[in-house]
Amino acid sequence: MALSDFPRYPLTFGPSPIHPLRRLSDHLGGAQIWAKREDVNSGLAFGGNKTRKLEYIVPDVIAQGADTLVSIGGYQSNHTRQVAAVAAHLGLKCVLVQEKWVDWPDAVNDRVGNIMLSRIMGAEVRLDPAGFSIGFRDSWKQALADVKERGGVPYAIPAGASDHRLGGLGFAGWADEVAVQERELGVFFDTIIVCSVTGSTHAGMIAGFAGQDRPRRVIGIDASAKLDETREQVARIARNTASLIGLERELRDDEITVLEGWAGDLYGVPVQSTLDAIRLVGRLEGVILDTVYEGKSMAGLIDLVTSGDIPKTSNVLYAHLGGQPALNAYSALFTS
Ligand SMILES: *Cc1c(COP(=O)(O)O)cnc(C)c1O
Repeated sequence: MALSDFPRYPLTFGPSPIHPLRRLSDHLGGAQIWAKREDVNSGLAFGGNKTRKLEYIVPDVIAQGADTLVSIGGYQSNHTRQVAAVAAHLGLKCVLVQEKWVDWPDAVNDRVGNIMLSRIMGAEVRLDPAGFSIGFRDSWKQALADVKERGGVPYAIPAGASDHRLGGLGFAGWADEVAVQERELGVFFDTIIVCSVTGSTHAGMIAGFAGQDRPRRVIGIDASAKLDETREQVARIARNTASLIGLERELRDDEITVLEGWAGDLYGVPVQSTLDAIRLVGRLEGVILDTVYEGKSMAGLIDLVTSGDIPKTSNVLYAHLGGQPALNAYSALFTS
């Protein structure tokens, strides 16, 4: 099997754009930094990395004759918003279990941003007080049972569309896409920086790049603050995806790099380095990063470049995975 043997249902505009971050590169005085923009990859409710993963899951939804997508995330989950958009686009129903993954005091945390968009798109949103986890939950099983009881055919999409047999394929395809764009741009990205939480974005990239001739570093920056779980999940999904797409060797442990140091103590709660990264990239580039994911991975990139861990001669590709709608629930952090 190869990636091209798996059906893909197009939900994105096509290859996501790559462009240089010139003023950020100059400011940091090290490697050349570029961004590949999953935050503008689709016309479906602002897109993002989950939309790309769902391109490989939708054919299975259709094959199984499901009429309701059921998924789970935090109140401000980007993933569930993208599932709601895909359901609307396909004419399916959608039930979303939204858990209190982040103990965040913003008064409209359960009303603005992603959750509002999901409601606008017609999803049935169920608020649940349970805390952060990337695993399977009772509230989620209940949602599946309720759909069946009403006579519907549910299709279960786990948190982040990660712990799913096909969850890594979208970003294995991203690796192929990068290789094509590199030939067009005449540049080779020796280092990739990606935020990692439920794991299949990073894992898919690892599996995809492992099949290419020229090695590169694919560095995951943990934003879960549960490093061991994330690392374990990335490794498992990377190996599963590699075997699905016919990689004819085992992935080595040194190909699976998830770094800690920028997540703070809690998923979804920004720390000073997150806020500094958001403001820096906003002011230098006019590019918006969020407080939950991309601000943390960018903080990692900034430190790795300024410390020289990523050498000055490097071309770095920062995977911008989306997530801006959640910023609306963090307004108190940006009052001046
Ligand atoms: C889900 C998400 C991530 C993390 O991706 P995983 O595949 O869950 O590791 C990073 N950034 C944004 C904006 C996301 O929505």
